[in-house]
Amino acid sequence: MEIAEILSKESLDAKEIACLLKAAGSEKELLYEKAAQVKEMHVQNKVYLRGLIELSNQCKKNCFYCGIRKDNKLIKRYNLSDEEVLNAAYFAVEKHYGSIVLQSGELEGEGFTKRIENLLRKIRELSDGKLRVTLSCGEQSWKTYRRWFESGASRYLLRIETSNADLYQRIHPDDQHHRFETRVRCLEDLRSAGYQVGTGVMIGLPFQTFEDLTNDILFMKRIDIDMVGMGPYLEHQQTPLYEFRDLLMTKEDRFQLSLNMIAVLRLVMKDINIASTTALQAIDPTGREKALMVGANVIMPNITPEQYHEVYKLYENKPCSGERAEDCHSCLETRIARTGNEIAYGEWGDSLHFGKKDKEKKAEV
Ligand code: SAM
Ligand code: SF4
Repeated sequence: MEIAEILSKESLDAKEIACLLKAAGSEKELLYEKAAQVKEMHVQNKVYLRGLIELSNQCKKNCFYCGIRKDNKLIKRYNLSDEEVLNAAYFAVEKHYGSIVLQSGELEGEGFTKRIENLLRKIRELSDGKLRVTLSCGEQSWKTYRRWFESGASRYLLRIETSNADLYQRIHPDDQHHRFETRVRCLEDLRSAGYQVGTGVMIGLPFQTFEDLTNDILFMKRIDIDMVGMGPYLEHQQTPLYEFRDLLMTKEDRFQLSLNMIAVLRLVMKDINIASTTALQAIDPTGREKALMVGANVIMPNITPEQYHEVYKLYENKPCSGERAEDCHSCLETRIARTGNEIAYGEWGDSLHFGKKDKEKKAEV
């Protein structure tokens, strides 16, 4: 089937998605054009800023791809102080970001749960309720998710990493901390705890196929996700997956495939929020801008104090490492302006998809 014919359809099946993911040359340009139109029609040409605070690189897990995995003894571990977190949150308030994301390695226990609760309450106080808070702190119990929700978090990001259970197991240790079923259960728990739920995958993993990526898009649709953050897999020397680097596509191909994934996802889930992730910029200096032009509508400027950037290194060549939040801010403003998108200052930028479902649910009651 011709690409133009596929692009004229209202809904896409697996075969059509796979065909679009492979689009190159003029076909790729048609795909990007269509995704840009759908974006403008459904979520407008706006970009929502989420100030990213990398709370801690301490982690109890050992994901084979991640530079801050527990067994990487070559990095210095850190934990931001409450004061550092609150100062960063205040920076976001002053810059009218609308939202922040608190992200960390996966930690558990009452101490960690309470700390996040306290931080959420203090952030609510200092921002006078003006900041929405997204959490990205890994797998937790339903009770913990609910406690954090009640303390002020309204969105949660938990990437499924890959929707292929066999591939998931291949890129994680075989133990009770790294189970595909638990990851899926957590996504369900987040939904029932009340959150706008975000997930995502890594693109261009060793052993990953086009069929896997097609199924990733269908998985996101099936679980009716509200937000997505996905980007290229990037190797890190101090991780077990580095051994398979010869199996990888070139970085440029991983980048192109990531743009195609974003564009196709925009066609499949028209009103969700899609992040233009930092990993894109690790390959192409204008990678994040390119993603905004093919369907993404969220950017997460790093507002973590700059001395910690180097040790929250998930992959090599992390961009903007060591840049002050203030410098990052002005740089992004200029970059975003070039894409024809407008920064939605002072807006929460909640997922419209979530808003519609929530309205329907309330109407039923
Ligand atoms: N610990 C939490 C978790 O795993 O959900 C949140 C922080 S974790 C560092 C955030 C994301 O980083 C992961 O979901 C994974 O997709 C991404 N990541 C880790 N290592 C990566 C790599 N080598 N290349 C690209 N993304 C990576
Ligand atoms: Fe820890 Fe998240 Fe990295 Fe896995 S991806 S090792 S859970 S920080």
